[in-house]
Amino acid sequence: MKNIEIDGLNFELLIKEEDILCSIKLLSQKLNDSYSGEWPVILVVLNGAIFFAGELLKHIDEFVEFSCVKVHSYDGKVSSGNIIIDYIPCCDIIKNKKVLLIEDIVDTGLTLDFLTKELKKRGAKDVECVTLLFKPHKYNFPNLPKYIGFNIRDEFVVGYGMDLNQKGRGLKNIYKNINN
Ligand code: 5GP
Repeated sequence: MKNIEIDGLNFELLIKEEDILCSIKLLSQKLNDSYSGEWPVILVVLNGAIFFAGELLKHIDEFVEFSCVKVHSYDGKVSSGNIIIDYIPCCDIIKNKKVLLIEDIVDTGLTLDFLTKELKKRGAKDVECVTLLFKPHKYNFPNLPKYIGFNIRDEFVVGYGMDLNQKGRGLKNIYKNINN
């Protein structure tokens, strides 16, 4: 498979679409086993998780309640370390409810920790996370995401919803940066 270039950076294939789809199916089976009959409210973390969430939601209970949250912290390839809320649903949707966040990628864990605290402050009873990708070597918090598709190294990735400067989200496979 050909390498690709986005904004002057080079990327090579990391995870093929068919492996992504297999992993999502396995994750959906785990969620169905864990939550059958008592689904939490699902919050999709935009923008990166849209592809993952779209595929995952095909395989789980059709009547599950869901909404989205949007935060940002990244500027290009670098996290600013500051999380800014662009959108969070109103309290009625989360108050006294269990929440499952759908994330594209958990890196340092700052976003997940921030969202967990923010949602609990707004009345969520409990917050868990399913993430397609996880960078265990960069993660800085004690509680791991509960459901993980792939553990990856400390590398910057694009594709399957994940971007560099809003580019590359539409790529069907996941690619890693090979500039370092
Ligand atoms: P964290 O707060 O865990 O450090 O980072 C979470 C957010 O940073 C993710 O939701 C994603 O938006 C962004 N991010 C972290 N690592 C990567 C990466 O390798 N590629 C892309 N495109 N975004 C990333």
